[in-house]
Amino acid sequence: MKKFFFSLLWDCNENCLFCAKGKAPEGVKRRFSMSECAAMLRKKRLEGCDAVSLDGGEPTLLDYLPDVIRTASGLGYSQIHLLTNAVALSSPEKVAAIKRAPGPAGRLKRLGVCVSLHSHERRISETLTRSSGTFEKTVLGIRNLVSAGIHTTVYHLITSLNYRALPAFADFVINGLRGVGGVTFSHIYPASRKAENLRLYPRLSKVAPHLSRAAEKLRAKGLEVSMSNCGIIPVCLMGGCETLFTDTVIDNNISSETCDTSKTESLPFFMELFNKRNKTKPPSCAACALNPVCGGIWKFYAERRGTAELKPYSRKDMLGLPASGGTAALAFKKDPGWEDPASALLVRLLDLRYRGFDKAKIKGFKGEAAARTAAVRKFARNIGFSRITFH
Ligand code: SF4
Repeated sequence: MKKFFFSLLWDCNENCLFCAKGKAPEGVKRRFSMSECAAMLRKKRLEGCDAVSLDGGEPTLLDYLPDVIRTASGLGYSQIHLLTNAVALSSPEKVAAIKRAPGPAGRLKRLGVCVSLHSHERRISETLTRSSGTFEKTVLGIRNLVSAGIHTTVYHLITSLNYRALPAFADFVINGLRGVGGVTFSHIYPASRKAENLRLYPRLSKVAPHLSRAAEKLRAKGLEVSMSNCGIIPVCLMGGCETLFTDTVIDNNISSETCDTSKTESLPFFMELFNKRNKTKPPSCAACALNPVCGGIWKFYAERRGTAELKPYSRKDMLGLPASGGTAALAFKKDPGWEDPASALLVRLLDLRYRGFDKAKIKGFKGEAAARTAAVRKFARNIGFSRITFH
């Protein structure tokens, strides 16, 4: 699905240590007007976007936010998502206005709100947001959204201050925020190299066991667990929660677009050029079975912490993964959202491997060049498939 990530404004009522946006650059206006929002939504809908994610800054600061949602619904978007800190949604009236906003359902299948909450402890939460008095308002905002029957999820950024408490945070969501539908975890997107940003970045190999435990707890209670696209890290640092990596890559592609008042661009996080500029791989990655689907580790992280945590996978490691003996059938499509459509196929194969398949039938790939077929076959073999056939 082609998504449109629409940042409506730069202003925010919090001041998070890890903010990926910050203040509006010099000479850039701070928000879109209502008529500009409507024009942009119309343009992106005509270009084929079917889902829109509204964020900021903080979108609830716009008194015309309900009109933006109504306009998106009227234009036929099938999914409308709002990313907010929900401080303003401690007011039930504001929540009611959002609930009413889409008007008659039309094509809209889901109005969802994702609320940023980075700790279940007030002290940690307000240290990260640098905004006192916000923790209780955010929690109340989440409860108001759930009570109003709006599909509500939580966005939780992993930092050095909260990663050990990921399982406890999952317990808090399950027991203290009943009705929430899921949690999106995120690593910090290193938009700035400010000292506090680097200090906040945890040692990634230490996060994995806590994240796995939290995901397990949430899934056991039927909650959705996902990972945000902007902070994606290599699979070898996600021990136990590798499908969060594959799901994120499969769900996002470069035909989706991001836009704020300074620029519109393709979703950059999975582009080769973006990875070349911002990420790195040590020479040992050349021998890794996952090398063809891995973008590498952030350069700033490698400079600061080295690359000893990265662990190349051998074929033997991948053969050691559980295998049900099942055969997966998958169709190859030349999805324009991928720079190389064969990359999409490789990620889907890896996803299937982590889900226990060790044989695959690939439909629609037969006419492809021999070199491509050989590369897919080699990758499949290296990640532990015992048989792969092309139809
Ligand atoms: S290619 Fe390198 S960074 Fe990527 S998963 Fe393999 S070892 Fe890790």
